[in-house]
Amino acid sequence: MSVLALEGVVKAFGDQVVLDALDLEVAEHEVVVLIGASGSGKSTLLRCVNLLEPVDDGRIRLDGEDVTDPRTDADAVRARIGVVFQQFNLFPHRSVLDNVTLAARHVHRTPKAEAETRGRRLLERVGLADRAGEYPDRLSGGQQQRVAIARAIMTEPRLLLLDEITSALDPQLVGEVLDLVAELKDAGSTILMTTHEMHFAEHAADRVVFLQGGRIVEQGPPEQVLRDPQHESTRAFLSRLR
Ligand code: ADP
Ligand code: MG
Repeated sequence: MSVLALEGVVKAFGDQVVLDALDLEVAEHEVVVLIGASGSGKSTLLRCVNLLEPVDDGRIRLDGEDVTDPRTDADAVRARIGVVFQQFNLFPHRSVLDNVTLAARHVHRTPKAEAETRGRRLLERVGLADRAGEYPDRLSGGQQQRVAIARAIMTEPRLLLLDEITSALDPQLVGEVLDLVAELKDAGSTILMTTHEMHFAEHAADRVVFLQGGRIVEQGPPEQVLRDPQHESTRAFLSRLR
């Protein structure tokens, strides 16, 4: 069974259809990279999965459970999903360690000592063990994004959603964040992400999905979609990036 399945998902803002009867599955341990021009619906797709936007039609299943059912407890669903956005969204007046542990303590009711032990282990894993007591603004953008990733995996989510997590970073900081995503992949995480870093997509994605106008135009292994695209619109999109 897939970890995530979108079945005929439709999302419109007013007259504008942003997700147009979209079908997409993500298998356990799979890394799926969504690509497409600005406005093609990538972020909306991720926001629908995280129940930040209601869908207008179709279904979204998480581990088989229909989470778009109106009776769904959205907080319980979100507790099973880890999310990192372009902006770091760390709490500025909380220490790095508090940022990593807060959700575990408050949403998952993990006792403080246990949460902090886990949090420190995760900070070690993202290479920031020595920054646990500092405030986020003392860290570089790349380090802050690594804290956000540690926070996202703290609760051992079934699925990670990463939306352009390197877009706000200085170019020299992109690599350290994407290296960490590659490590999560190697450790078996299930990831649905968007990025403009085609080099990363090429070596870390199991599957690349090209979206246009809220539809999947083309998908497949990265070497196929990125190196030998079958559709003119995919070729046009990729050539604009080069
Ligand atoms: P992408 O992430 O691929 O750039 P988005 O999902 O952000 O695309 O946006 C897809 C389309 O939906 C865009 O035309 C955008 O303007 C529109 N859109 C996104 N969010 C909203 C919103 N809250 N209200 C109205 N229109 C929106
Ligand atoms: Mg977006």
